[in-house]
Amino acid sequence: MEDIIIIGGGIIGASTAYFLSKEGRKVKVIERDPSYKKASFPLSLGGFRRQFFQKENILLGKFAKEFIFQIPDLLKTKNNPNPTASMVPNGYLLLFGPEHAEEQYKALENHKACEAGTKNIKGSELTKVFPYVSDEGIETATYTDNKIEGWIDPHMFHNALKSKAIELGAEFVKGNVKSISEIKAKTIVSAAGCWTNELLEDIPVVPQKHTVFRVKCPKHIPEMPLTGDLTTGVYWRPEGQEYLAGSPNSKFDAKDLEPEWNDFEELVWPALAKRIPVFEELKLTGGWAGYYDCNKLDNNAVVGKHPKYENLYMASGFTGRGLMQAPGIGRALTELITTGSYQSIDLNCFAIDRVLKKTKRTEPYVL
Ligand SMILES: Cc1cc2nc3c(=O)[nH]c(=O)nc-3n(C[C@H](O)[C@H](O)[C@H](O)COP(=O)(O)OP(=O)(O)OC[C@H]3O[C@@H](n4cnc5c(N)ncnc54)[C@H](O)[C@@H]3O)c2cc1C
Repeated sequence: MEDIIIIGGGIIGASTAYFLSKEGRKVKVIERDPSYKKASFPLSLGGFRRQFFQKENILLGKFAKEFIFQIPDLLKTKNNPNPTASMVPNGYLLLFGPEHAEEQYKALENHKACEAGTKNIKGSELTKVFPYVSDEGIETATYTDNKIEGWIDPHMFHNALKSKAIELGAEFVKGNVKSISEIKAKTIVSAAGCWTNELLEDIPVVPQKHTVFRVKCPKHIPEMPLTGDLTTGVYWRPEGQEYLAGSPNSKFDAKDLEPEWNDFEELVWPALAKRIPVFEELKLTGGWAGYYDCNKLDNNAVVGKHPKYENLYMASGFTGRGLMQAPGIGRALTELITTGSYQSIDLNCFAIDRVLKKTKRTEPYVL
């Protein structure tokens, strides 16, 4: 019998394979599409942040930074002695209107308790720090400016994790798992992303289509952080000489991954131009859509041992933050599988039981 089989070789599967292999476990990863055309991770924006409401998400964000900064040491292999994930540590800036201010002040208490190192300013002081941002309708803002948040190239990150896992003995094979019952292994890990519900009917993690636009602006602001305007739900960041901007519109039961082009004129451009006046002169140059692995119950992760199975663990439902949480989740699952409990960050709040009992633990800061 196999030791550990992971279903899904995306970013969560690859990270879990890496951490388990590092502990000397024999891991086989089954992936149905090794080109990863529709997988969530290559279509993501690569952002890593610690600005969340819930402490566990803040702590996972802190570990993401720690891990990403150590990629050159941790993930070097014989074939790739200098791995990188092309990090851009420009920080994050989150903007809140009066309707979200009180919640944000509570979130800041959690940031403080977790020593997240975030900064908070009044909306009226925003332009002193970010002169290119309009403060209209902004009550409060939170940001980092000390290279502890930013974004990476998701492809390169996945490739580095996968290559290191393989060097440590993991095996990646092509295969489409139709049912958990067909897998014979001492331990099974479901890392099937937004397709989790196809394998586990009692887990409400499903595909939620999100569109990202690529735009060009005559004025380039290379130091701009990844900015989320919670008054409109639109977020954006520089990408080379251009910018990427995410639509606030999301769609369940989407038939295809064609971008929702109408969102640009109707929702995204007006929101961008209102917040960053130089964006009035934007030109749309492209776009794509991908699936969030959305946990319909509460937009929060579902991680741990499935209580209805002898030997099944799972991790999904990251709802827009699975790339940055991959290192922390891979480590957490490894701790749970090899020692029976979490050793670093206690993630019991994400246990599957909460979903089965429909107990919500909502993370509000979804971008
Ligand atoms: C537009 C967009 C922007 C995003 N931006 C960010 C961001 O800035 N930061 C961030 O942290 N996250 C972001 N995300 C979210 C992030 O991409 C996901 O949360 C993350 O990729 C989930 O990782 P995963 O490994 O669980 O799923 P995936 O990356 O989708 O991998 C799952 C894999 O499992 C395979 N699989 C599924 N079922 C089976 C089966 N039955 N048999 C075999 N293989 C199977 C699939 O083929 C797939 O390759 C974004 C997502 C999108 C779409």
